[in-house]
Formats: sequence, C-alpha cells, structure tokens
Amino acid sequence: MTLAPNVSAQALSGLARVDPSQSHAAQRGQTVTLKLALSQPVPYRLYTLDAPRRLVLDFREVDWAGVSKEIFAKASTLTEVRFGGFRPGWSRLVADLDAPFALLSSQMSRDAQSGRALLTVVLKKTSAEAFAAQAGPPKGDVWPDPVPTPQQKETGRILVVLDPGHGGIDPGASRKGQTEKDLMLTFAREVAQELKRLPNVDVLLTRNDDSFVSLERRVALAHQAGADLFLSLHADALSEGRAHGATVHTLAQDATDEASALLAERHDRADMLSGTDLSGQDDVVADVLLDLARQETQPRTERLAKAIVGGLKLKGAPLNRRPYRAAAFSVLKAADIPSILLEIGFLSSDRDFQNIINAEWRRAMAEGIRDGIQAWIISDEAIRRVVRQ
Ligand SMILES: [Zn+2]
Repeated sequence: MTLAPNVSAQALSGLARVDPSQSHAAQRGQTVTLKLALSQPVPYRLYTLDAPRRLVLDFREVDWAGVSKEIFAKASTLTEVRFGGFRPGWSRLVADLDAPFALLSSQMSRDAQSGRALLTVVLKKTSAEAFAAQAGPPKGDVWPDPVPTPQQKETGRILVVLDPGHGGIDPGASRKGQTEKDLMLTFAREVAQELKRLPNVDVLLTRNDDSFVSLERRVALAHQAGADLFLSLHADALSEGRAHGATVHTLAQDATDEASALLAERHDRADMLSGTDLSGQDDVVADVLLDLARQETQPRTERLAKAIVGGLKLKGAPLNRRPYRAAAFSVLKAADIPSILLEIGFLSSDRDFQNIINAEWRRAMAEGIRDGIQAWIISDEAIRRVVRQ
C-alpha cells in the first residue's frame, strides 16, 4: 500500500494540486470514505495510529492552496483534519478518529484523458483491539529525501540555532489568515540577518521552509551542529486573552503557571499528532546524567533569558507582566545547550498581533535579540574563564 501501482512508472512533473471541489469525506453507518482529487497522480502511503486514533496519509509534495478542512466535515468520525508540508518534498494529512475505524481499502485512479487522479480511502469500523493490532507506522521509516545533517561549526566561533516554531502540517496559532509558523519563519530569518552582523557568530535555522520538523529533531539538529545556544521563536494564542507581551520560557519539570503548562502541552500534542516518532522516552539512568548536565547549564540559561529580555526592553518591547516563566517544553530539553523559548508576543492579543505583522516592529525586536545575545556571549565567556581557572 506504499505506492499506488499505477503511479510508479509515470514521469511525475510539477506540483500536484488538491482540487477541493472534487474532494470530500462521507460517512455511512460503519463506513467512512475519503476522496481526494489531485491534478496528477503522486506516490503516497497511508496507515493508522493508535492512542489517540488517527489516519495518516503521506504524499509526494502536493499543493493544498485553497483547501479548507470543511470539505471533510461530513464524516463525523473525522473529528479534526490537518494537512500541509511535512518533510521537504512530502506532504501529510492527519485525521483524528473518534472511534476505531481501520483501513479497508485505498486506491489511486487516474483519468486517462485529463491525467487527473482520485485517491479513495475507505475505513471500516472495527473493535478497539483489532484497530490497535493493525495500527502503526510502516516498518523502517524510509524517506526518499533524508533531512541533511548540518555541518559542524568552526572552532572558535559561536553557533546560534534559531528555531522557528511549528511548520508544515502544524501551523501553530493563526489569526486573520496569518499563521504562527509563517510569521516565525520570517522573524527567524530577520533575527538571523541581525545576528550575522556580530563578529564570530554563525546562525543555523532548524527549518528554512514550510516543512514539519519534530521537536526531537530540532533538539538533535542543535546537538549535531554543536550549537552554543538555542532560541525557539513563537507567537502562540491563549484563549483566555489576557496574555500580552514578550515572555521568555526556560525548561522546568514543574511549570511556573497554568498558561505556560498549557503552552508546553499544546506544543507536544501538535508534535505528536503531526509526526510519527513515538519514541524518545528517556530511561531513568539517562535522566540522572541529563539532570547533572542541566544543573551546569541552568545558570547559563538563566543569564541568557535575562540578557534577551534586557535587549528587548532597550528596544521598547512590550513585555509580559511576568516575562520569566518555565515549563516542560520538549524543544528545550538539550541538557548541555542553553535553550530558551521566546514568545515574542501572543497572536491572541490585538496589540501583539498588530506588532508581529509589522516589519518595522519586528526589526527592532530582532535587534533587541541580537544585542541580548551579544551581551550574553561576552558575559558567558568571562564567567566561564573564571570558572576554568
Ligand atoms: Zn508556538
């Protein structure tokens, strides 16, 4: 079921587009049928996952422009559908299932005259046990385009890893057609420009396009590249609507407050639902070693948080009334790299939203981050020199 047999021999060119007018989902009793119309056939694979139950559909990259999840609304079993870029060259659709509906059949047919393709997926209700037995990602998570490993940094230089939050199938927060994933990619590029002005500083982005990168992979990238500091950039929404201004988060097992706990949990959930990597549970022995490394890193991380807040303040950034917070953010779990997560503002706040979509405001914030990081590099080097003596 990984490749539609009628597709593999064809020369595929251009990006396939989803035709929303011919795509829909329907439910009749124990059966759910999902139809996706594409401008041309593409290789695809599909499978179900358990806990929570969902259907995952991977395609060679397709263009989702103009597609809304409303087209799947007629099948009530599909409680939530998300789709978008996954890895470079690949797209993904994930549909949450409210009951155990297993894969019955899938077929991609091609219209000989128009060259268009229609993917039909049929799910059938089954028992929870049978669903669990069938569920699971394909053996050996083989992707034709492996994500490139970053080059090791040069000695004597400081490597800053910037992490634009969300991406691809996981849009993060959204408001008035603007998404957190796009805004943060733009902002990360702007911050990178500013940081490159500093002597001795190199910058690496965990993603440079609209693809999904798992939280674990973001941390792994920072390790592989030999990062000196890790900065994750976000602009989430909080439904309570009382969150305004920039907030710097560090890692802690116990969250400082409910809102931060909610943010960390939401990021983990989006990651889990969008990706397939279900491993990554640290064992107890590893935990002890990691804790020791974290103890050493923690004061450096705290100084980094203060330096960035200081840099932002000097640029007149609106700060949250409690700008320092902590929670169990998975993306901050690199034990030996000072890592912070910056909510530059909240898309749910009117004022913050207007700021974040304003290029001039973002430039001032990027300069503030640059100045904060520069101050941190100087003080960190000085303190470490004293400690080493
Ligand atoms: Zn976010």
